Amino acid sequence: MMQDCVFCKIVKKEIPAEIIYEDEYVMAFKDIHPAAPVHLLLIPKKHIPTFFDLTDEDISIIGRVQLAAARVAQKLNLEDKGFRLVSNCKGDAGQLIFHIHYHLLGGRTLQWPPG
Ligand code: 5GP
Ligand code: ZN
Repeated sequence: MMQDCVFCKIVKKEIPAEIIYEDEYVMAFKDIHPAAPVHLLLIPKKHIPTFFDLTDEDISIIGRVQLAAARVAQKLNLEDKGFRLVSNCKGDAGQLIFHIHYHLLGGRTLQWPPG
């Protein structure tokens, strides 16, 4: 539920986060348990639990999240070396927070495929 959602609470500034970027639709903040030198979470401000909950009206929001990821990565000087943008959807992928988010990982060579 939205009321219990950690990321909605970060959007409403009810709990603190190290916010790196914010606009009307999107927020980017540092992951509390970084897995790489750069580890941000990019979220739509709108509460959407998983990709399965997306509708046509969300298409532009998801586009804005990805555009924000690219802009933030440029600002963090990741344009030459690159970065990874990943999103876990439900149990097998290990989704823990049911508010769509993309992990932006960078600053080191990343393994592929993931575990
Ligand atoms: P998931 O497994 O759902 O893709 O990832 C959730 C991510 O959110 C994890 O990497 C976890 O460290 C991060 N996270 C969980 N709670 C908080 C929080 O309260 N603040 C921040 N900044 N990150 C969080
Ligand atoms: Zn939420």
